[in-house]
Amino acid sequence: MHLPDGSPNGDGSRRSLRSTLGESTLLGWPVLRQFLGRDSTGRGSAVTSARTQAMTPRTATADRVVQSVCPYCAVGCGQRVFVKDEKVIQIEGDPDSPVSRGRLCPKGSASEQLINSPMRQTAMLYRRPHGTEWEPLDLETATDMIADRMVDTRNRTWQDTDDQGRKLNRTMGIAGLGGATLDNEENYLIKKLFTAIGAVQIENQARI
Ligand code: SF4
Repeated sequence: MHLPDGSPNGDGSRRSLRSTLGESTLLGWPVLRQFLGRDSTGRGSAVTSARTQAMTPRTATADRVVQSVCPYCAVGCGQRVFVKDEKVIQIEGDPDSPVSRGRLCPKGSASEQLINSPMRQTAMLYRRPHGTEWEPLDLETATDMIADRMVDTRNRTWQDTDDQGRKLNRTMGIAGLGGATLDNEENYLIKKLFTAIGAVQIENQARI
């Protein structure tokens, strides 16, 4: 961490001066520290408390950092994902990204909450026709149900030609709408699958 006086964690001479003076005395008063030290604007070491100095950013204790791309929108800002004990502990802007040069908008800055939110849904839920409650469903059963419905809908709505005999080879009964948290690879596979089964209405909410 660099403070406004340009020094990591505050100026060393200020720190020793402060410990000599003692923070609890009048001489440890931030205004005096500002006038006596080199932090004349009072935005760095002069106003840094001992408690703040004792803190360590959680990014400093990460086991590794993984480069990634913000999942939210098509700007594609670069992210650094900090991992500790195989858990994501922080996500920040990647200064090496030519797209965003270290910046993230408020949504991208909150990506860590997307991953670690206790409200995140991780199990398949199903609400049957006319049902009022969601019920858990295993992934295999849900996948079979979706496949059955897609095949049935495709068969019922398939169009070989239009009313003038021109070739169509499509279904208007199936559409795809992707969300912003789909990554490039998922979007690629969804587009490929839906085009292969004859769908032409394939969209994604994330775009420039
Ligand atoms: S949501 Fe924000 S941080 Fe994420 S890619 Fe878009 S502009 Fe960048």
